[in-house]
Amino acid sequence: MLIYNPLAKITFPKYGIQIPSLDSRKTNTIKALKADSTLGRRKADWLIQDFPASISRDDLERAHSAEYLDRLLGENQEQTLMEAYELLDEQGNFNRYDPEEAEAPLGGIIEDVMTIISGSYAAIPIALETGFSYFLGGGMHHGHPGYGHGFCLLNDIAVALLKARDEGLFKTAWIVDMDAHRGDGTAEIMASHSDITSLSIHMARGWPLDSPEFKEDGSLNPSWFPGDVDIPIESGEEGEYTHRLMKAMDKLEQKGRPDLVFVVAGVDPYEKDELPSTDLMKMTKEQMLERDQALYRFLEDRQIPSAWVAAGGYGASSWEIHTQFLDWVLKRRLKD
Ligand SMILES: [Zn+2]
Repeated sequence: MLIYNPLAKITFPKYGIQIPSLDSRKTNTIKALKADSTLGRRKADWLIQDFPASISRDDLERAHSAEYLDRLLGENQEQTLMEAYELLDEQGNFNRYDPEEAEAPLGGIIEDVMTIISGSYAAIPIALETGFSYFLGGGMHHGHPGYGHGFCLLNDIAVALLKARDEGLFKTAWIVDMDAHRGDGTAEIMASHSDITSLSIHMARGWPLDSPEFKEDGSLNPSWFPGDVDIPIESGEEGEYTHRLMKAMDKLEQKGRPDLVFVVAGVDPYEKDELPSTDLMKMTKEQMLERDQALYRFLEDRQIPSAWVAAGGYGASSWEIHTQFLDWVLKRRLKD
């Protein structure tokens, strides 16, 4: 099932933030799928347009520190938001931010983010019941226990999974993160949860791995916090991507079958992605489809339920990548 709620998004320009994350990524995807003659007729069989708001502060505390949540949800909200979205440069000037262009106060982002986390959570029971779900939103994998960065205030992946696990919906899960950027926040949060295994395949260099592995005081830079499986891909190795991912999946499988796989299906490795920090990974449209299909077939062959979230994707072409996979997978599932 595809889960799409038009409210589950952050429209950054509404808050005066200049990030090229466009609504068209989702609206064009839905439009294209509905326009297809087979899918258009059978919308009720694959589209879910709503989910309940389900996330409380207690749920957030499974993944984030109380101190961070106090700042974010309390009096220091605006400053904490400015830090998380990196809206000030080192000199204290506005960075990709113009409050005069804002139509809504910055604090409105919190409600948007909570709606997104509810969507990521909703994907889990639907995946467990039906075998497959895809939430057209979420994937905020740079949310760390004690801070947010990289457009990610809170880690919806971790909050959703830890909530569902504590509710007894599953015992073991894998996270397979295919976004162009390393899933650093998820790796740090999941380090203390041995029942959830995190894999990230990502650009070997560039943000968030462009700062030294260790800080001046000798402590580890959290962006380098090791995940269970890390697969760095250098520029020029895009043709190897799917092969290396699938080899790692085979290896993971030797440790036992999980009850659920949570896929962070970023489309920002696509060569037409417009965010400058994704320039070090340039996969073709065909390579992107090969990646998504290979992972889906692996899970289908083993009958492992999977919940997918959209994660990163920037600029006017992102929707093409969501659409090509969803068109294929939804039709495949309708035939069953
Ligand atoms: Zn990304």
